[in-house]
Amino acid sequence: MVEAKKETLEVLPGFSQGVRTGAALRDIAVGQPICPKSQIRGKMVAGNYEPPEIGPGDENCQLAGGEWWVECEKKGHDPYFRSVRMYSTIDIEEEDEDGNIFVTGTRKKVRKARVVNATQVSPDIAHNSGKGLYRKLKYFGYKRLKDLGFAEVCQYRGCQKPPMYKAEGYGDYCSLEHLNLIAARQEGEYLTKTDTQGLNAGLEKMSDKKRQNQLRNVMPRNVEKIG
Ligand SMILES: [Zn+2]
Ligand SMILES: [Zn+2]
Repeated sequence: MVEAKKETLEVLPGFSQGVRTGAALRDIAVGQPICPKSQIRGKMVAGNYEPPEIGPGDENCQLAGGEWWVECEKKGHDPYFRSVRMYSTIDIEEEDEDGNIFVTGTRKKVRKARVVNATQVSPDIAHNSGKGLYRKLKYFGYKRLKDLGFAEVCQYRGCQKPPMYKAEGYGDYCSLEHLNLIAARQEGEYLTKTDTQGLNAGLEKMSDKKRQNQLRNVMPRNVEKIG
């Protein structure tokens, strides 16, 4: 295994949809350009829709078509990011003369954060003949996270852990387990299911061992340790 050098990049705040071990799909998290001016909405006033006031400089760049994201960035619209408010609740405490502490109320704290418009694109051969990611980057203005100053994440669908292993042709993963699950799918290796229903009581250990062996067998030869 080859050691790769580490870069220090910001860590992507949560967008995880949850990891499922039964569905081994490869996804690459990327930044999607969205002109913030496309998000200006009208509001309902007394049951009637009032369109938003579109002032000068509020034009939605996306309506221009073409490579609109280039102009959008030039205007300083920051299309790969959006600002969000994060709330946390803080207890207000009071201590009496005996040293007992009581919570007498709460305060809501607001923190503003700038987050990436992150989305996941499948480079999987089953989707658009494997051209999905390439097309998004080349024709739709999407950017890789590292090009936006953020650390890349594991390419197992829904997993957001930092990548530790890399194999050319397979991708970057947090663990050999995630790498091998994707390799198994890519190589068409049908994995033995581990019995969780108790239908084959007593055989769980055997099927689990078989599955572990299958996973080891599909492990690509060109694995590099990158984390
Ligand atoms: Zn814009
Ligand atoms: Zn992972």
